[in-house]
Amino acid sequence: MKHKCEVISDLMPLYAENLCSEESSRIVAEHIAECPDCCEKLKKMNTGISVRADKDISVIRKIKKRIRIEKIAITAAVGAAVIAGMWFTGFFLTNTTCNMDYEKYGLSENVWVEEDENGNIWFVGNDKATVADSFFSTVRDTDGNHMGYDKNFDSESANAYGLTLTQTRISSLSPVDIKMLKPERILLFNKNEKEKINEVFYFDADNNKEYTLWKRS
Ligand SMILES: [Zn+2]
Repeated sequence: MKHKCEVISDLMPLYAENLCSEESSRIVAEHIAECPDCCEKLKKMNTGISVRADKDISVIRKIKKRIRIEKIAITAAVGAAVIAGMWFTGFFLTNTTCNMDYEKYGLSENVWVEEDENGNIWFVGNDKATVADSFFSTVRDTDGNHMGYDKNFDSESANAYGLTLTQTRISSLSPVDIKMLKPERILLFNKNEKEKINEVFYFDADNNKEYTLWKRS
């Protein structure tokens, strides 16, 4: 029994710090249950009364310190990854745009083209269309290809002008609909420029569909 007490005594500092293997823990617990001396010893250790500051304990301190340093390193790495992720997400949401889907935003009723008394031609956006942050325009040639923006396009090679409303991703995700009280008007062409244009359409870039807003009659 005395020999066993020594073994248990050696394990006790680890046991007290819960650093024993499962098997060692079981052996220590079983022994303590039937050995009042060792039980007493452990009680002192748990309450911090123990004065045994031998090298076993300093080894444990070193182990615990190393574990702590590793935890700090992992926490720092995870923190850096989270911050980088948030930065990329923020950049993506505020610096990239998406197109306003014609059906989803009910644009059939909320965008149109009108001519004023001087023959100028305007694009008008109303209600949900006014939550757009910007618009980009496109020119379609006679073969149906989109050529990008070119206001002075040749009427022989290009025949229609289109535009798409866009929003930053963050506003497209946000359920809040901040609408203008009045329809928004954008001057597209004055009456001289208008002579070159046969058609104005809304280009639903996501679905690659065109919706005619105005056609030369
Ligand atoms: Zn014992």
